[in-house]
Amino acid sequence: MTIRRLLTLSLFSPVLLGAQTTRRQFTHADTLRGSNGPARAWWDATFYDLHVAVNPADSSVRGWNAITYRVLRPANEMQIDLQVPLAIDSIVQDGRRLSARRDSDAFFVALVAPQQRGAAKTVSVYYHGKPKVAKRPPWDGGLTWQRDSLGNDWIATTDEGLGASVWWPNKDYLADEPDSQRIAITVPRPLTDVSNGRLRSTTQNADGTTTYEWFVTSPINNYDVEINAGQYAHFGDVFNGERGDLTLDFWPLAYHVDTARVQFQQVKPMLKCFEHWFGPYPWYADGYKLIEAPHLGMEHQSGVAYGNHFKNGYAGRDLSGTGWGMKWDFIIVHESAHEWWGNNVTTKDAADMWIHESFANYAEGLYAECQDGKEAGDAYIIGSRKLIKNDEPIIGTYGVNREGSGDVYYKGGSMLHTIRQLVNDDEKWRGILRGIQSTFWHQTVTGAQIEHYIATHSGLALGPVFEEYLRTTKVPALEYKIENAKLSYRWTNVVPGFAMPVRVAVGDGAGYTWINPTAEWKAMPRPVGGGAQLRVDPNFYVTVKDASAAPAGRGAGQGAASGRLETTVKFTGM
Ligand SMILES: [Zn+2]
Repeated sequence: MTIRRLLTLSLFSPVLLGAQTTRRQFTHADTLRGSNGPARAWWDATFYDLHVAVNPADSSVRGWNAITYRVLRPANEMQIDLQVPLAIDSIVQDGRRLSARRDSDAFFVALVAPQQRGAAKTVSVYYHGKPKVAKRPPWDGGLTWQRDSLGNDWIATTDEGLGASVWWPNKDYLADEPDSQRIAITVPRPLTDVSNGRLRSTTQNADGTTTYEWFVTSPINNYDVEINAGQYAHFGDVFNGERGDLTLDFWPLAYHVDTARVQFQQVKPMLKCFEHWFGPYPWYADGYKLIEAPHLGMEHQSGVAYGNHFKNGYAGRDLSGTGWGMKWDFIIVHESAHEWWGNNVTTKDAADMWIHESFANYAEGLYAECQDGKEAGDAYIIGSRKLIKNDEPIIGTYGVNREGSGDVYYKGGSMLHTIRQLVNDDEKWRGILRGIQSTFWHQTVTGAQIEHYIATHSGLALGPVFEEYLRTTKVPALEYKIENAKLSYRWTNVVPGFAMPVRVAVGDGAGYTWINPTAEWKAMPRPVGGGAQLRVDPNFYVTVKDASAAPAGRGAGQGAASGRLETTVKFTGM
C-alpha cells in the first residue's frame, strides 16, 4: 500500500503518534482473522469464483463466491470470513444447504459431506448487504461510493489490512492464496468495471446492468481483488520485456484520457528498471494495468489503482526532500514495485509487512538510480530517513493481523540500502534481489525466509543486523574517540553480537576505509592526525558519536540513547 502513516501520523496528525505506540490488546477476533486456526488449516483455497452485483443507489452489494479448495486433512468445520454488517443468505455444498454459526466477522460452517484428504471440493456462499464505507481510502478502506467531477458514479474497493472479507466471503488469511480467480462484477449501465487480470466477457443484462467478467490466472492476494467502476476510457500499449510482450492497459476516467496518455508514459521505463533489478514482471499472463481510482493508489495485482492526479511526486510532493522524487510519479513507481514485493512474493503474516513496504520503498531509490544515476538513488534513500520515527519495531505481532511501525517504509528501505553497502558488489546484490523473486515466485513467505535468503546468498552474518533494524527501535551508534593520535571505536545502542562493518573516513579529504567495530573498543592500527573528525559513509543508516571529549564516567558502558547522540549523519545532496 502507499504510505499511510506519513499522512495519518507523521505530518498531519502528530497527536495520533502516541496512540500508535500504545500497546494494543488483541482480541479473539484478531486471532480468528490473523492466524491459521483449526477451521482454516485443513483446507487450501485453489479457486475463487466471485460474482458481485454492485448497487450505488443504496450502497449495497449482493452476490456469491464459489470457493474451491483441496482437503489437506479431514475436518467437519470450515471458517469463512465475511465482515459485519454483511449477511450470508445461504451456504451450499454438493446441492445441500449447510448451517453456520457466526463469531463476529467469521462464520463456522458445519460440513455434512465427507472431506477426504486430497479431494477437491467446492462450497458456495451467497451473501448481501451494505459493506463498510471507506473512511479514508486506501488506508481506512472498504467501499468507496464517489462521484467524478461530472457527477458520474465512481466506485472502488480498498481493503489491505482491513481484509477482503469487508466486501466478499473468503478465507481472509494472507498465507493462503487461490491459484486463480474469476471476478465477475455487475454494475448499472453506463458504468464500466475494471478488475484484475483480463476481461473475458461483457454481458448486457435485461435489468439495465452490465456484467464484466475478469479472470486472474495466477495466485492473488485477496486484498488485491478490486472493483473499479466508473466512466472510463481505455488505451493500450505493449512493453517488450524479459518474458516477451507484456500488454499494458490504461483505464483513466474518460475526461482524463489525454493527460493520462502523457503521464502513463512513465510505465515503460519503470518496468524496464524493475525487471533489471528484480527480474521479469510476475504477471505476463494477466497483463499490466493502471486504473484511475477515487483514492491515492493501491497495488491491486495486475491492475494498479492510480489516484495521483497525473502529477509527479507523492501527491505533488517529494517525500525524500532531495528533489529526485519529483522526477517521477510516486504512485506508478511505488505501487508497481509491489507487483514484485507484496504480490509476487507475499508475506504470510502482516507482522512481516517489511517484505512488501521496505522493498517497495527501496525500489523507489532504485528507480531514482535507474533514472538519474547512483548518487540520485543514494540521496533519495538517505533523504527519506528524516521520516523515520523509531517509535516501535518494524516487525509487528504475529498471528493477529498486526503490522509493526510505519518505519516499515523508510527505515526498512534504509536497512536494505545499508545491506547493499555490506554486500559491496552491486551485481551480486542485484542477483540477490532477483533470486528472491525467482526462488519465491508466486509464493507466500515468512520474513525469516527472506532474512535467511539474503544472509545465505550474501555470505554475510546478517542475523544481528536484521535483529537490530527489524526487531528493535535502536539505531546503531558508532562511538569513537581520538586520543594521542589513536582512533578507537565501538558500536553502542546495538543488540548482542552486532558487529557490522562500516566505511569511515578520518580527516578532511580522506577516502573511506572499512572498519569492523564490535561492542568492544577497538583501535585503528595507524595513527591519525590530531583534531581529526570521523565520518561514516552516509549510505549506512547509523549514527556517530564523538566520545573524545566526554566527561569521565560517561560514555563507556552506557547504551547511547538516540537523544544523546551528538552527531547524526546528514547528507547534503541535491
Ligand atoms: Zn506500499
